[in-house]
Amino acid sequence: MVLRMTVGLVLLVVAFAVAGRRLWWLGRVARAGQSAPERIEAVRTHPRRDVSTESTEVLGQRKLLKWTVPGVAHALTFWGFTILLLTIIESYGSLFSRTFSLPWIGHWAFVGFIEDLAAVGVLAGIITFTVIRLRADPHREGRRSRFFGSHTGTAWLVLGMIFLVIATLLLYRGAQINTGVFPYPHGAFASEIVGHWLAPLGYGTNAVLEVVFLLAQVAVVLAFLVIVVYSKHLHIFLAPVNVLFSRRPNALGALEPMRSNGKVLDFEEADPDTDVFGRGKIEDFTWKGMLDMATCTECGRCQSQCPAWATGKPLSPKQVILDLRDHAFAKAPSLLADTDADREKLTEEEKAEAERPLVGKDGGVIDPDVIWSCTNCGACVEECPVDIEHIDHIDGMRRYQVLIESAFPVEAAGMLKNLENKGDPWGMGEARRAEWIGELDFEVPVVDGAIDPDVEYLFWVGCAGALEDRARKTTKAIAALLHTAGVKFAVLGPAETCTGDPARRIGNEFVFSMLAQQNIETLNQAGARTIVASCPHCFNTIANEYPQLGGNYEVIHHTQLLARLVESGRLAPAGRIEEKVTYHDPCFLGRHNKVFSPPRQIMEHVPGIEAAEMHRNKNRGFCCGAGGARMWMEERIGKRINTERIEEALALSPDTISTACPYCLVMLGDAVSAKKASGEATETLEVVDVAQLLARSVGPAGKQGTSVARDGGAENSLGPEAAGS
Ligand code: SF4
Ligand code: SF4
Repeated sequence: MVLRMTVGLVLLVVAFAVAGRRLWWLGRVARAGQSAPERIEAVRTHPRRDVSTESTEVLGQRKLLKWTVPGVAHALTFWGFTILLLTIIESYGSLFSRTFSLPWIGHWAFVGFIEDLAAVGVLAGIITFTVIRLRADPHREGRRSRFFGSHTGTAWLVLGMIFLVIATLLLYRGAQINTGVFPYPHGAFASEIVGHWLAPLGYGTNAVLEVVFLLAQVAVVLAFLVIVVYSKHLHIFLAPVNVLFSRRPNALGALEPMRSNGKVLDFEEADPDTDVFGRGKIEDFTWKGMLDMATCTECGRCQSQCPAWATGKPLSPKQVILDLRDHAFAKAPSLLADTDADREKLTEEEKAEAERPLVGKDGGVIDPDVIWSCTNCGACVEECPVDIEHIDHIDGMRRYQVLIESAFPVEAAGMLKNLENKGDPWGMGEARRAEWIGELDFEVPVVDGAIDPDVEYLFWVGCAGALEDRARKTTKAIAALLHTAGVKFAVLGPAETCTGDPARRIGNEFVFSMLAQQNIETLNQAGARTIVASCPHCFNTIANEYPQLGGNYEVIHHTQLLARLVESGRLAPAGRIEEKVTYHDPCFLGRHNKVFSPPRQIMEHVPGIEAAEMHRNKNRGFCCGAGGARMWMEERIGKRINTERIEEALALSPDTISTACPYCLVMLGDAVSAKKASGEATETLEVVDVAQLLARSVGPAGKQGTSVARDGGAENSLGPEAAGS
């Protein structure tokens, strides 16, 4: 008895000392990052929301369960281990008293049953994980495996450790049954089976096995604790904390404003010597950023959904987080060196790590091609089970590259200059913003001063909608539909300027805030209340990012308004469109803002349309390649993202590909043109906005039950342009 007590206590002290030292060190590394008082404030002021988030994300395993098989396996392991905390108490208690039982519940058969059920559940979980890892072996599958780049050796070690935890548990419990000290009379079915196997060995041998496997159980659990804090399995402890301090409802939609020293950066008062402009070194990340890095489970869900990774680019969101983490840990001796004497003690290797540029070709922690490959599509953030905020980290590094280093893809320079000087990415100027109105056969009021009180909606046209040929057709279709439905709307015309989305996404926060403030002033002067935006990027920026600068408006997307008008009967699609149509979800409408149904509802109401879903749709939609200001950068590495998407669409043999975003319209349209040129797509295949499809079906040419040709018919009141020919 004394021996087992002594061994148990020594193991406990050693394991807690080693694990505690590591956790203390991790805490110090995290504190080397920038402060993030807004995260603490958010938790302090929304306790009820936090309880609900922890319940669904951590206890409910919501995101993990979106992947059914690995999700169920993880849930079995997570819940199993939660219950098995009882057996850890029992095993420790048994070191001090052979007949130890849990207070009050220690002899309930149900408790014994539930403990054994948990043990079996964990076993089932790790067997499933083993099969999953063997099937997705990165050595065989290469980049296609979500585990490519993960530390697979540690993962196998941990699976082995979990097996040992369960094996030693059942063995010592089985031996306890045979020596008569097991606390549960019935119920512990798995332990009883093991006890049955051991029974022929007799009392003496079982008494020895009881001690041996009890000590083994304690040793394995404590060794597991140490391995956890030194490996990716740190997420067992950190995931609930990371989820707690994550952005709510998630890190999609708005980008984080630029913060320095815990405050939102004010460019007019910023001091280049003391303020932080984006992320130029690892300690420019906040402690929450550091927590993200330490929490990554290396599951590769983000990587598996990333369009850049899927098309052969060097960007893997997982690898970004892992590279940042490895660098943070390697630079820790320098970060934690408080005095000159400490710094002198650094090895040459540690000094070299401290000098490594965060982003740079030769020797940088992150290759510049990695950060410039990101389309900000949000697939990584959507999938990550521990709520890591990849886009903020990537765009944080972009901000430093653009604002401090002036290092960004050279072809985007023209776009930034045009935004600054002309207010649109193409440099066409404000005078041309209202040209499309002259092509309609009805009046569209242009706001002059304040919006008339009888105007229901301010139609935010956007740069592409006003100036890009293909997107202008969508704009005219929307205007014609609103006119037909009798909706009172107005536009800003020349007073509208770019929302700043491409500037913000490329990292030029200075130009973004300049444009955003100008628009907010215009909108406030006009007295804008409800804005309908046709571009999801404008929609996202005005709805989610302008509040960061004091601009608060109700914003809806044109598909939401059109769906309402159809639903209420104010628009009556009657003309048949006998076509197979597949809808492409724009990332900034769908994944970032969860508008999935309205475009589909509109198409459901158009008679004749046969809707066909692509394999990757809704939350799992695949990017067109234009977001994150990628629209204004060359795509030199790997396969083109728009080609990948169009090939997925072509597999359905559609007549039409519909979407609800001018960026997607252009990107998918370009890919279709290339496929037509190579003979892989039919000449009649077209890419149109959902509004254009609706416009074809509504109006005199769209008579009840008659088929409408693509030009909408000569007498269509909406006009062939509005119908999108
Ligand atoms: S936002 Fe999209 S492109 Fe960027 S890293 Fe995440 S998944 Fe990849
Ligand atoms: S970032 Fe999130 S999704 Fe990606 S590997 Fe890490 S835990 Fe998994």
